[in-house]
Amino acid sequence: MYADRYGMVLPTYDVSGMLLPVLCRLCGKVYDLAGVNPTSKHEDCDVFKTPCCHRQADTRPWKSLPDYSELTPEGRVKTREHSH
Ligand SMILES: [Zn+2]
Repeated sequence: MYADRYGMVLPTYDVSGMLLPVLCRLCGKVYDLAGVNPTSKHEDCDVFKTPCCHRQADTRPWKSLPDYSELTPEGRVKTREHSH
């Protein structure tokens, strides 16, 4: 656990051994994006099945609700910098 700059306490996740750890938005588990096999490839994204809950997900990070959140090597959810 750690506190971010807003003073909120956020969890850290076990990402040991993972190349591209991500947090599944569908079930809240962590999986290695480098280990998924795309079921179909598109111009702008890959579609794959999540290894945790076997649901369809894709790699578009700009969706309003992305299918996963990227994690840092420390196991923290990457927060996007907002410009003010
Ligand atoms: Zn999942």
